[in-house]
Amino acid sequence: MHYLIIGGGIAGTTATEELRKLNTNADITIISEEEHPVYSRVLLPHYVKEKIPRERVFLKKETWYAEKNIEWMTGVICDYLDVRNKFVRLSNGREVEYDKLLIATGGEVRTAPFDFAQGINERQISYFRTLADSDHLVTLLSERDASTQGYVIGGGFIACEYINIFAHFGIPTTVMLRSDRFWSRVFDEETGRLVNQRLLNGNVEIKKSQTTNYQLPTTPSILGIGIGIIPDFSWLRDTGIKTNIGILANEYLETNIPDVYTAGDISEFQDVVVNRQVNIGNWMNAQMQGRHVAKVMLGEREPFKLVSSYATNVLGLEIIFVGDTDRSAAEEIVVRGSVLDGGVTQLFLRNQKLVGATIVGRNSDRQPITAAIRDQVDKSDFLG
Ligand SMILES: Cc1cc2nc3c(=O)[nH]c(=O)nc-3n(C[C@H](O)[C@H](O)[C@H](O)COP(=O)(O)OP(=O)(O)OC[C@H]3O[C@@H](n4cnc5c(N)ncnc54)[C@H](O)[C@@H]3O)c2cc1C
Repeated sequence: MHYLIIGGGIAGTTATEELRKLNTNADITIISEEEHPVYSRVLLPHYVKEKIPRERVFLKKETWYAEKNIEWMTGVICDYLDVRNKFVRLSNGREVEYDKLLIATGGEVRTAPFDFAQGINERQISYFRTLADSDHLVTLLSERDASTQGYVIGGGFIACEYINIFAHFGIPTTVMLRSDRFWSRVFDEETGRLVNQRLLNGNVEIKKSQTTNYQLPTTPSILGIGIGIIPDFSWLRDTGIKTNIGILANEYLETNIPDVYTAGDISEFQDVVVNRQVNIGNWMNAQMQGRHVAKVMLGEREPFKLVSSYATNVLGLEIIFVGDTDRSAAEEIVVRGSVLDGGVTQLFLRNQKLVGATIVGRNSDRQPITAAIRDQVDKSDFLG
């Protein structure tokens, strides 16, 4: 039996590790576009802030793959899939057959359209997804001087990372938001105000309603762009694999095509906890899906079940997303706390159950909320 894993991030590598653990004889191949062994994207901001050395971001040594008898192909992209004859083609022309295929290809950064004639130097632009992106940012930071200004486009997790990094190095920062607040499609006004207040207290300038014509300076600065990730489905064309925001999968992480599975940021799976098809982009979800899908590929028949969360901070203000935070899919939203209290929690409810929450400055809410979502506690019991 040949197990083929596309994508050497945390989802793909965890699946690979679990497959080997549970089946010592299987042929396992992992295809990785990036040249390095698997590393922690969560640790990248710590590396950029010089809190840890570069080598600490790696989760495996280069020798690990051979030691585990795993075929590891790096620096190649899988650019064609034939699900009928069960093989993939790689960017180096090689074809690889499979019995079971896992697609764990994550997402690519969404790029911002710039008119470089405006005078922006392309080299000053930073994206933040990979170790290579981080190396570039480290170089830009090493070239800074007293006149360096930090500009951030975006209002999500990566924008928070840029703000923290610029603050760490004492670089004056301007953030450009699409609307008037961070996570404009998720946060209510009060939560948005809480985050904005923290930024203003930290001397971060906020420019609101920046959509097409970003108010950028023409002098060289560091411009960090964090406007989300997008999946690459181009090589899945003509395969019949169903996609939406991500690759559609059932609760077992199986796609609609036999022997093709998906896990991590690229998957849009049937979440049995919140009873909805969801796409979740966090480390815990990617890692646990990788582990789970390996078992399913080996024949176990358990649905994937997890209430995952993404916890970060901006200038020390803790921001946590738990479960299903899609505002448009919530039937009711209950807000606890206020700017005056220093913390706001939004509870997202559907079918009389708690399905998700955003928790800003109220860390102690995290554990009971996670438990209530997991245990599908009735709304009245939880709110009461
Ligand atoms: C800077 C940063 C900080 C973060 N901090 C946090 C945090 O604090 N907490 C948290 O929960 N989450 C955090 N995240 C998000 C988290 O890291 C991701 O959710 C997680 O890494 C997703 O893992 P994945 O394996 O699904 O995808 P990825 O990590 O994107 O891995 C997919 C891999 O597949 C490769 N690939 C893609 N297409 C192909 C192809 N066709 N052929 C071959 N290879 C291919 C890609 O190059 C990539 O290496 C952070 C992310 C970043 C970028």
